[in-house]
Amino acid sequence: MTFEGLNLIEPILKALKTEGYTEPTPIQAQSIPIVLEHHDLLGCAQTGTGKTAAFAIPILQLLNADPLPERGPRPIRALILTPTRELAIQIGESFQAYGRHTNLRAQVIFGGVSQKSQTDALRNGVDILIATPGRLIDLINQKYVHLKSLKMFVLDEADRMLDMGFIHDVRRVITQLPTKRQTLFFSATMPPEIQKLADTILKDPIKVAVTPVASTAEIIDQSVYFVEKKDKKALLIDMLNDRAIRSALVFARTKHGANKIVKDLVGAGIPAEAIHGNKSQNARQAALQGFKTGRLRVLVATDIAARGIDIDALSHVFNYELPNIPETYVHRIGRTGRAGASGVAISFCDSEERPYLRDIQKLIGKNIPVVTLHPYHSEGEVVHAAVAQKSKSQQTGQKRYRDEPSRSNTGFSPNGASRQSKNRFRSTTRSTTNTSSGKR
Ligand code: AMP
Repeated sequence: MTFEGLNLIEPILKALKTEGYTEPTPIQAQSIPIVLEHHDLLGCAQTGTGKTAAFAIPILQLLNADPLPERGPRPIRALILTPTRELAIQIGESFQAYGRHTNLRAQVIFGGVSQKSQTDALRNGVDILIATPGRLIDLINQKYVHLKSLKMFVLDEADRMLDMGFIHDVRRVITQLPTKRQTLFFSATMPPEIQKLADTILKDPIKVAVTPVASTAEIIDQSVYFVEKKDKKALLIDMLNDRAIRSALVFARTKHGANKIVKDLVGAGIPAEAIHGNKSQNARQAALQGFKTGRLRVLVATDIAARGIDIDALSHVFNYELPNIPETYVHRIGRTGRAGASGVAISFCDSEERPYLRDIQKLIGKNIPVVTLHPYHSEGEVVHAAVAQKSKSQQTGQKRYRDEPSRSNTGFSPNGASRQSKNRFRSTTRSTTNTSSGKR
């Protein structure tokens, strides 16, 4: 499959060439024709599958062919609603990139920054608006945003909207939209409330799914370390002292926890920064930028702050604390192994977190390999004494972190060195299903 085979117009093909995209990802190959034929779409796909281009490319193509009104400023004809500013910025950049040879204008709006530049742009006319829910509602209320001419609506990461408590705002936005429109709905998971929302806002949608929700990419090398809470700090420091870990995103459950990890790491001479909701927008952007450019090797994040982090070079994800919602595990480790590259996901699990691990393994349908050969291994309280004995003897020898000595792709191998080209997607390892194309 090629982009040419998808009947895309020359200005878009040219832009994709500049981006270095040689072939569509599975979600793109399936979604683009559906959207170009004006159908509603229900896309089950998570970030990292190329879903942004799956909606951005056909939106650009359809709007490019859609005549503008003869008088007045350009009306907003496409709205993309997404949960976080980071995602909004990335989607905005994607529209800029793929639409660079069209005359279409895309604008991003999100909260936490002055609205002045956003409202200036809106006054000049915008074809495609990419927004987070709160700021969008503010600007609708202030009459800067008019949606009566809207033709296409994208709800991005619907399940995250629910997790983050935005579902009420999303419903409010939907009441503002013309009923005659094309709607594209994307969600990595389909909990009942999201399914209900999809049922109410989509008309005869065609469903496209890449990778079953619960699966975790096979190219991500997952492992779990049983370690008591008090030893997690020392284990993380030991592991991050391995320079083969080029870039690590460390997940904490709370903002306080994230700050504490940063303090511990910095205290041990490992530069690290935290991103979470208490940090200013500027501080978050600076940390993220530092991480993207490689200046900063270790970033510590809470789940909400990490949404939408799009870093192709991310080699390691650490779950310092396991999430209590199993889907969050899938989202977290999906930050690595992006765009066809390999990645390593390491989880620390203390005795209280064992039930979370069980839930995660149930969801992903497999057991995560346990690494026992490390100095802080703990089987839990019952066998604690025996393990303490074992750990002591291990500490005397050379530190080993794997239970499979011959395995080369360890959490400590210079994984990044073998990273594949950005254009190699997981189409060979991931299952792609078009569950209801028969409905077309
Ligand atoms: P997304 O799932 O939209 O966040 O995209 C994940 C990453 O894949 C982004 O960095 C995109 O720039 C990249 N990407 C999207 N489509 C393609 C493609 N067809 N070929 C190569 N890279 C792509």
